[in-house]
Amino acid sequence: MEFRLIERIRERTAQAREDVHLGIGDDAALLAVPAGVELAAALDTLVQGVHFPVGTAAFDLGWKSLAVNLSDLAAMGAQPAWALLALTLPEAMDAATRVAFVDDFADGFAALARPQRLALVGGDTTRGPLAVSVAVHGFVPAGQALTRSGARVGDAVLVSGTLGDAAAGLSLLRGGARASDARAAALVERLARPQPRIAAGLALRGLASACIDVSDGLLADLAHVCAASGVGAEIDVVHLPRSSALLDLFDDAAARDFALAGGDDYELCFTVPEPRMAEAEASLARLGCGATRIGCIVEGAGVRVRDVDGAWLEPARRGWDHFGA
Ligand code: ADP
Ligand code: MG
Repeated sequence: MEFRLIERIRERTAQAREDVHLGIGDDAALLAVPAGVELAAALDTLVQGVHFPVGTAAFDLGWKSLAVNLSDLAAMGAQPAWALLALTLPEAMDAATRVAFVDDFADGFAALARPQRLALVGGDTTRGPLAVSVAVHGFVPAGQALTRSGARVGDAVLVSGTLGDAAAGLSLLRGGARASDARAAALVERLARPQPRIAAGLALRGLASACIDVSDGLLADLAHVCAASGVGAEIDVVHLPRSSALLDLFDDAAARDFALAGGDDYELCFTVPEPRMAEAEASLARLGCGATRIGCIVEGAGVRVRDVDGAWLEPARRGWDHFGA
């Protein structure tokens, strides 16, 4: 039974790679790391009711459980190669539901993995409360990984794509909105099927001084870069890139707060020495996601936010403090 499930996952995610000497089926996978590269390794767990709502489509869960991990590799400037999958399925699921769930899950996982030529090389399948852990491995030329600790005073702070869409999508879902409106559907899509910025991460190697993916919200994640680099940052609300869907469906204050503190966008936030800013912008524009300068790195600590009226947003007015900023 469990064997048949694993076999179904294996078939649906099949990806031939010469560096996979032994994949799913033995006690461990055998993988060949190319010479001269460092292996970037990351793992994220999604638990039902905590990281995704009850009733999330299995396809979306398969996609997202890989996407959040590929986003971590993107933030390191790593090229994805392999993944491991731990799937915990509820005891109460009947056999037919279990098979349908696993098939859809594997199809969602594969839809994102296949274009990256990422191979699923092993995992574990157990019974318990619905949860998914994915571990990913990627390659980065030795010494070239993007880290959180390289931001320097005077660097520009940029983000890829647009911010706040996923959190806005979640608020629409919670409000019971039917995503019949194309703009609402676009926001919900950002939440359900985030696009990890892998190509952007690769393009930023040798260009960005520091990088992080925006999973917990811009303020929280940029604060991690500041802490790791021993610097502060100043950003301007007026420069925050926001989609027309977000600006159409929400008022200015809500759109601002989603962009500052909403999670789940999986854009890249990175710093670049001023003289190379135009190069970074042009490079990400060519890739389609674009990049926007939102502020700069300064001496000190923490993130300060200048509102549209030019005044600093006071901590007391930060409705988003509970997000951990
Ligand atoms: P073991 O008991 O030796 O750990 P398992 O029965 O758990 O073996 O797994 C058998 C094979 O199937 C192993 O190669 C394992 O990596 C793979 N596998 C198990 N579950 C999954 C999964 N959810 N996705 C991918 N591979 C899996
Ligand atoms: Mg096992």
